[in-house]
Amino acid sequence: MLSKLLRPARSLPSRAIYARSFSTSPIARGVQEITRPAIDTPLSLWNFTEEENMIRETVAKFAQDVIAPRMRDMDEREEMDPEIIKGLFDNGFMGIETPTELDGAGCSFTSAIIAVEELAKVDASVAVLCDVHNTLVNTVLRLYGSEAIQQKWLPGLATNTVGSFCLSEPNAGSDAFGLQTTAKKDSDGGYILNGSKSWISNSAEADTFLVFANVDPSKGYKGITCFVMSKDMGVQIAKREKKLGIRSSSTCVLSFDDVKIPKENIVGEIGKGYKIAIEILNEGRIGIAAQMVGIAQGAFDHAVTYAYQRKQFGKYIGDFQKMGHDFAEAAIKIEAARLLTYNAARLKEEGRPFTQEAAMAKWYASTIAGEVTGAAIEWAGGVGFTRDLPLEKYWRDSKIGAIYEGTSNIQLETIAKLLRKQYIS
Ligand SMILES: Cc1cc2nc3c(=O)[nH]c(=O)nc-3n(C[C@H](O)[C@H](O)[C@H](O)COP(=O)(O)OP(=O)(O)OC[C@H]3O[C@@H](n4cnc5c(N)ncnc54)[C@H](O)[C@@H]3O)c2cc1C
Repeated sequence: MLSKLLRPARSLPSRAIYARSFSTSPIARGVQEITRPAIDTPLSLWNFTEEENMIRETVAKFAQDVIAPRMRDMDEREEMDPEIIKGLFDNGFMGIETPTELDGAGCSFTSAIIAVEELAKVDASVAVLCDVHNTLVNTVLRLYGSEAIQQKWLPGLATNTVGSFCLSEPNAGSDAFGLQTTAKKDSDGGYILNGSKSWISNSAEADTFLVFANVDPSKGYKGITCFVMSKDMGVQIAKREKKLGIRSSSTCVLSFDDVKIPKENIVGEIGKGYKIAIEILNEGRIGIAAQMVGIAQGAFDHAVTYAYQRKQFGKYIGDFQKMGHDFAEAAIKIEAARLLTYNAARLKEEGRPFTQEAAMAKWYASTIAGEVTGAAIEWAGGVGFTRDLPLEKYWRDSKIGAIYEGTSNIQLETIAKLLRKQYIS
């Protein structure tokens, strides 16, 4: 178990840290004061704690040894191999930030981001399973769940039970707070859940579900409440989607038909589910950015390796100047996306504003993942278009980055609104 290998989390450098204030830009000066910690010797974003380096190593090894040999077959069958899920649990990758007292690894947020990146280098479907489970499900329970809820649900989620995050509905995607699933108060103080959820990741394998429902539609979004429930309480899988990419990650339509939920299963406060959803998706987006960085890097590694094996006109195709320049441009884009992602993760860990940076990281990483994977297919020529290389899969898998956890338009909308605040008096 990771928790046994690693020391307790250490999210900041062990140097003297003191605070000073400055504005983000000359125009913003006086409008928005952001307190930033200053350190005696600034560090690059390529500095990681010992535990973060160890996570990168162990996840990368697991991805190569266990996932890589199964990845193509899982994609063809559109199913996740249960051995992989077992391996994720056995290695401690499903409770990365969960405290050790609750059977988790007790590591930093950046550790979770690194794990997602390393998994996505090999298979984006496994990466999203791990990402949704850690950065959405576990985090909601850890940050908003009562002591009793944490004790009851988090140990299972760290050791053997997959979790799903159920917000979207047929008529509530980008406009998630238009959700129509209701939770009506029952005579015994509990709630009766009715409605339907769409595109729910992990739902075929999950046994723990976080469900957002409205307890009082007359209050609009202020009636939205988060509930935790197990499958046997009445979660029905109505349909499994057939998808373009991340095909071995299950994406299902769920239905709830008069499902009884005790009031003890409310996560956070009644009517505050919208706040939980906003806050958690702001941070979850950094995980999707990491997934996109991993996809881009994985495709790049395969294609460039191929380019230094394949010869045309008597030399390696990678040695043609135009090919080398293409590689250089792609490497710049991947590095930029990675740094945006790591920076957003560190800002979040330090308790500083990160919404704009997370939206930038997700938008940029998903944009360049599409570009780099598309180019990688072309670099490998005809074989890139076949399933002999995984490049077509990386390209298909990259498309989802611009859609889930807020579409690219929604990221731009978030960034534009935050920029406006800085420039308007
Ligand atoms: C594979 C997959 C896995 C998913 N997993 C989960 C999950 O685990 N849990 C969950 O709750 N949800 C999940 N989702 C749902 C996902 O978050 C939504 O699909 C996404 O938020 C977009 O909503 P939508 O599909 O209804 O698109 P729509 O909201 O209908 O958007 C369609 C288009 O309109 C644009 N648009 C919408 N509103 C605006 C606006 N205000 N300004 C500009 N453009 C706009 C969008 O950018 C997009 O281009 C998943 C989806 C997929 C495909």
